[in-house]
Amino acid sequence: MDGARRPSAALVLILLGPPGAGKGTQARMLQERFGYVQLSTGDLLRAAVAAGTEAGKAADAVMKSGGLVSDQIVIDILRDRLAAPDCASGVILDGFPRTTVQAQALDTMLSESGQRIDAAVSLEVDDGAMVARISGRYTCAGCGEGFHDTFKIPTKSGICDTCGGTDMTRRADDTVEAVGTRLAAYHAQTAPLIGYYGDHGVLQRVDAMGAIDEIATSLGHVVREATER
Ligand code: AMP
Repeated sequence: MDGARRPSAALVLILLGPPGAGKGTQARMLQERFGYVQLSTGDLLRAAVAAGTEAGKAADAVMKSGGLVSDQIVIDILRDRLAAPDCASGVILDGFPRTTVQAQALDTMLSESGQRIDAAVSLEVDDGAMVARISGRYTCAGCGEGFHDTFKIPTKSGICDTCGGTDMTRRADDTVEAVGTRLAAYHAQTAPLIGYYGDHGVLQRVDAMGAIDEIATSLGHVVREATER
């Protein structure tokens, strides 16, 4: 974690928070606004499942149930993606790390390449609101833009505001049962990382119950502070 400082442009920002806190939405917005790369282990794993790789086959059933995929699979998948050239300008980690073992592996990976974590942002939300948020959400299959039955309705029903696509998908693990398991996994295995990053002096807390744009503004301040340091 305390490796040599790399160029300030190569930001490493972690988004922590339970399912439904808005990590994916905010990571996407930061990617568009600042040009950093959104690294979502959930997206990487879903791609592995769709491609039928060994990792995807091992992850499929666990993901549907809402449990956590094994540390080794996720660490390997993240390490490969992090090494790609487009990540050199900076990354927003969305959904990784989710366990202390993953956090330690990330520290090692970053220090080996002379990088360090600029900020780990805890998106603070009420658990009760998360089930409603998750169970109403869906995504444009064409461009990945996220929508919600109540909170983010497309301007024209069924048509993506971003790319005009009409093929919308809902995640297999956005069911009430799987969401309960995912929230439990968050509290048991991921929430301790708030203390971990607090101890390392990089934790920032952001109220994530408000409007999407307000949360994006708060995160923009975190990014600016981190890149100006
Ligand atoms: P997400 O898209 O981040 O909500 O992740 C969807 C699912 O992928 C999770 O419920 C887990 O089953 C799995 N997953 C994603 N990231 C991780 C991770 N860092 N560690 C373990 N499992 C993960």
